[in-house]
Amino acid sequence: MQKLKFEYRIIAGYIVIGGIWIIFSDKVLHYFIKDPDLLTRIQTYKGWFYVLITAILFYSLLKNHLVKVRKAEQKAIDSDRLKTAFLQNISHEIRTPMNSIVGFSSLLKNLNPSEAEKAEYLEMITKSSDQLLNIVNEVLDISLIETGNISINSKRVNINLLLDETYHLFKPSIKKNISFSVIKGLSDFESTIITDDVKVRQIINNLLDNAIKYTDEGYIRLGYSLDNNSLKFIVEDTGIGIDQEYHEKIFERFRKVGSEEQKLYEGVGLGLAICKGNIEIMNGKIWIDSQPGKGSKFFFTIPYNRVKEEETIAANKSGFTGNLDALTILVAEDDEINFIYIKEIFKGTGAEILHAQNGRDAVEMCRENNKIGMVLIDIKMPVMNGYEAIKQIREFRPELPIIAQTAFALSNEMLKAFNAGSNDYISKPFKKDQLLAIVAKNMETEKSRFEISLYDILILAGNLFAISNF
Ligand code: ADP
Repeated sequence: MQKLKFEYRIIAGYIVIGGIWIIFSDKVLHYFIKDPDLLTRIQTYKGWFYVLITAILFYSLLKNHLVKVRKAEQKAIDSDRLKTAFLQNISHEIRTPMNSIVGFSSLLKNLNPSEAEKAEYLEMITKSSDQLLNIVNEVLDISLIETGNISINSKRVNINLLLDETYHLFKPSIKKNISFSVIKGLSDFESTIITDDVKVRQIINNLLDNAIKYTDEGYIRLGYSLDNNSLKFIVEDTGIGIDQEYHEKIFERFRKVGSEEQKLYEGVGLGLAICKGNIEIMNGKIWIDSQPGKGSKFFFTIPYNRVKEEETIAANKSGFTGNLDALTILVAEDDEINFIYIKEIFKGTGAEILHAQNGRDAVEMCRENNKIGMVLIDIKMPVMNGYEAIKQIREFRPELPIIAQTAFALSNEMLKAFNAGSNDYISKPFKKDQLLAIVAKNMETEKSRFEISLYDILILAGNLFAISNF
């Protein structure tokens, strides 16, 4: 039933209480008091009493209501201001890398640059494209979080391994005068848990990106420890720090610390809001301890859902050795440029790359060529899409590792790929290391596919249930 508006409720309450009061109090007075003079005097007091009581009642009801309304009004004003600041900020954030991409591309095209210059221009273009992509991803992520369209995709993850990978990923981008270390709070055997590794990586990467951005000297540390039934992570830096006043606000979307000095740093102010959204959906918390000029410590927790030891050993076994000799990979991709990019990634690994331009060709090639040891398949393809092709390939090659490429890491797209029969997925755009890591992980044999499948089915069922409830 729809709730009555506040003003109707208050009027209805006033009339009902007033009516009951008049009828019953009059009856009581007439019953006990017979003297008309005394009755008139008491009636006056009764009137005053009623006025007083209703005034108190109105005051408390109105006050509560107005506090809520004023808060909502302030929030709307704040949100409007933040959105304006965000739009100004984002147009600057987009224009800067765009300028660089357009500028350096035309330099490459129009002038005749030397090899060294070419390499420098390409480096700038790549850097700016990454920056742009980051903004697009952040905006997409925050909208998914705010519309409640994200879900947890849990699997077995070895946290120590994840931290090692993160260390190697970040080490090259950290200034020489800053020491970077990783502290693991559990042994390798104890550190395999069930969690959403994509989200955990995203959170850690975001916090480390910030630590690098705001630190000029000293150290950056990444670590975790077991705290009750949670893993408590810390990303600590000796950078510019954050004033107490902003400790809560920085987790709101579009929020950047207000000082002029800090406004010079790039960023649209979404990173921490995304971290918070992702951590909360995983039943964790995020908070900060920081002092201006001294540095910042960001903490976050995720549940410690430990996996049994035998399974842990299996999970620890994977890892890219750099050698894909004797592996024939079928890349099903209709976009020529994407195919060239993927082929480039595998250059020097020893893998033989075959190309199918649509789903139907991919199915035929798998049927005719037994050498194909892995399929990397795009979902959106002409003639026959990736889902259908995966299903058909599964019918005659149940053991073949198939990795789906999806446009975005949207859970339903990913789930559909899993349901069709793929072993794994990678969301576009991806980098060389990411693709090679996934290929290495899926080079495990038929056995590992079935080892994890029962567990994955349970997780997927949970996810499907969550999605069907949106
Ligand atoms: P962005 O970095 O894109 O501006 P974030 O949401 O990641 O957005 O961070 C919000 C704000 O919090 C930043 O603009 C910055 O002012 C502050 N901040 C975040 N991390 C740090 C850090 N490690 N040291 C100092 N300030 C930080």
